[in-house]
Amino acid sequence: MKVAVISDVHGNRHAFEAVLDDIAVAGADEVWCLGDLVGYGAEPDACVDLAHDHVAVCLAGNHDLAVTGEIPLEEFSRGAQLAARWTQEVLAPAHHDFLGALRPEGEQDGIGLFHASPRDPIWEYVLSALLAELCISVQTQRICLIGHSHVALSFTRQAGQVATGESRRQGTELDISADEWLLNPGSVGQPRDGDPRAAWLMLDLGQLTAAYHRVDYDILGAAAAIRAAGLPDSLAERLEYGQ
Ligand code: ZN
Repeated sequence: MKVAVISDVHGNRHAFEAVLDDIAVAGADEVWCLGDLVGYGAEPDACVDLAHDHVAVCLAGNHDLAVTGEIPLEEFSRGAQLAARWTQEVLAPAHHDFLGALRPEGEQDGIGLFHASPRDPIWEYVLSALLAELCISVQTQRICLIGHSHVALSFTRQAGQVATGESRRQGTELDISADEWLLNPGSVGQPRDGDPRAAWLMLDLGQLTAAYHRVDYDILGAAAAIRAAGLPDSLAERLEYGQ
């Protein structure tokens, strides 16, 4: 089975549609989403609709949980708070219910799924090999998937060794048939690794490979929607830079 793994859509309908088109061309059997469908971007309702129609397994991210009121807004930066409040106001009631039913961790086909990390599924940013070592030490599945940092990354640990990690560019294909792994597909709707293109990961559960993908999308369209919604300009600007 081939699974397309996505994360951190953040209300960016333009990016989400481009990624779903790319996934359809590549031919995945299922799409799994690691959370943060909403927050930052201007089209949360459209993104929840797309997730409802195309995503088989969906986690909640910290932004989703803030919008549904499960975690307090005070823990967010100013821009994120403003966007979360705006999302609370505009989101359709049925979509509040959709987000409210999601959890920040799960397991599917023996793969561990976490929005942020196996140690802290809601908040921890796993950006260093040191943190990845601590996470891999507590994870019960050999392969786990994480989002939250908006950086396409892989961490791995061989028996008797310490974890190592690398940021991953489009076209990288990893053999994950042995050793322990912690993989981050990067972000669909707000990449922060310097590559502004939307990110996703193809996981082949038969061949046990993981391939990193990036796809161009209408960044100016997404930025214009953010400005038209009256959300902070910085949230539009950063899309262009992938930061
Ligand atoms: Zn996020």
